[in-house]
Amino acid sequence: MSGGDLAAFIADRYQEAEALAKDAPYELDENWFSLPSEHGPAGAVEYYTRHSPAHRQRDLALKRAILTLHAPDEDRPYRCRTCHDPAAADYPCPTVRQLGTEFTEHAGYKESWKP
Ligand SMILES: [Zn+2]
Repeated sequence: MSGGDLAAFIADRYQEAEALAKDAPYELDENWFSLPSEHGPAGAVEYYTRHSPAHRQRDLALKRAILTLHAPDEDRPYRCRTCHDPAAADYPCPTVRQLGTEFTEHAGYKESWKP
């Protein structure tokens, strides 16, 4: 299995997460905010505000940009186009491997992808 499969695996997870964020029933109205504060632990409102679907979409855009920066080199697909450290020569580079750790619990995640 090539190292590029990890990047494709991550891109697929981002696509799934983005679809979930776009479809999430999340509205910034007073009923939504009153629920966590009345029935949830302290800090629930702040937590859910910071982990809103809009926040998740910004987070995914950032991670996709990092994944693009660390795509395989066009001339040498076994190398990262950004990382030039000979110790991290093989693709996926350490940055892509770290991005993949977000999905270690997914059934499709391979142990060999661990950083
Ligand atoms: Zn890299």
